[in-house]
Amino acid sequence: MSQPPGFPAADDPADRALRPRALIEFNGQEPVVRNLAVAIEAAKGRKEQLDHILLSGPPGLGKPTLAHIMAKEMGVEIHETAGPMLERPGDLAGILSALRPGSLLFIDEVHSLKRVVEEYLYSAMEDFRITIQIGEGATASALTLNLPPFTLVAATTREGSLSAPFRSRFGIRERLDLYSVADLSRILSRSATLLGVEADIDGLETIAKRSRGTARYANNHLRRIRDLAQVRYDNRISQAVAEEGLQMLGIDAAGLTELDRRILRCLYDQGRAVGLKTLSVSIGEEETTIEDVYEPFLIQCGLISKTPSGRILTAKGYDHLGLPAPRLASDLQQRLFDLPKDR
Ligand code: ADP
Repeated sequence: MSQPPGFPAADDPADRALRPRALIEFNGQEPVVRNLAVAIEAAKGRKEQLDHILLSGPPGLGKPTLAHIMAKEMGVEIHETAGPMLERPGDLAGILSALRPGSLLFIDEVHSLKRVVEEYLYSAMEDFRITIQIGEGATASALTLNLPPFTLVAATTREGSLSAPFRSRFGIRERLDLYSVADLSRILSRSATLLGVEADIDGLETIAKRSRGTARYANNHLRRIRDLAQVRYDNRISQAVAEEGLQMLGIDAAGLTELDRRILRCLYDQGRAVGLKTLSVSIGEEETTIEDVYEPFLIQCGLISKTPSGRILTAKGYDHLGLPAPRLASDLQQRLFDLPKDR
């Protein structure tokens, strides 16, 4: 998946510096944090490794951050890799053989694991053992690797594409949702302190409201607006400074980026339900990026809607573009969205 504009890479050092290091510093995602805290305390009490954990949800919400926190809270080392890096069973064997008792293995983008690698993981997860075939034909032999008890923490933006047998091997499955404005404001307040910039509550809330529910966007906007505050406004972020900074970043009053607006515009121009392929070609963005990064927020805002025949602009979407909704579309939406609750 390509990184959308304004979305720093996960290994960006400036981004890493803002990562919470303990569960207590992790704002938002309360149910997930609560469940993980219980699991950690219980595992520590039993002096056992944590159960295998699957974290799912849109990018930028803190999945690798949580994996690091869990390793730290358990006092174990973390080994990190990602689905696309494990091409062959041998790659997996290499990573697994480096684990020590209790180690936490984090696999990001686990949905892109090849099926054959995924199947080797099954016995590693269940029996802490894998048997790998070496060579082919008459000279083939099998090598069994006994592994220390370890915890697999896997992250995915597309839980739906994991196979049922794989999913069922995770004792703990948690879904992260887009952050509320209040949670993002708390995240931003902590980040502003770490960055050494003064920020009013109104300034932080303005940034939070326009960060599409995503911690990584919020922190990135804050870093850019801090530059503006430092150069022009005495290192202080007020609401007016936040608004000026967001405008410079091309983020509109609803928090939409240029690409979000291109998606809305494309749906408007097509004037009918649009399939993912057509949308991808029209706006020049990968299908997975549209589905994983842009659509969840546009749907959550009620600007677009997914129907069996494709995406459509809602009446609110037409409003956002400042364009009149066709009579037929607003009638249809009226029927789809404004049905009495008891029907
Ligand atoms: P994902 O893989 O889900 O994209 P990351 O763990 O890479 O998420 O998080 C992205 C960035 O967002 C982190 O570097 C961190 O700065 C920030 N972040 C995520 N969640 C939180 C949180 N709850 N509190 C503070 N910062 C957070």
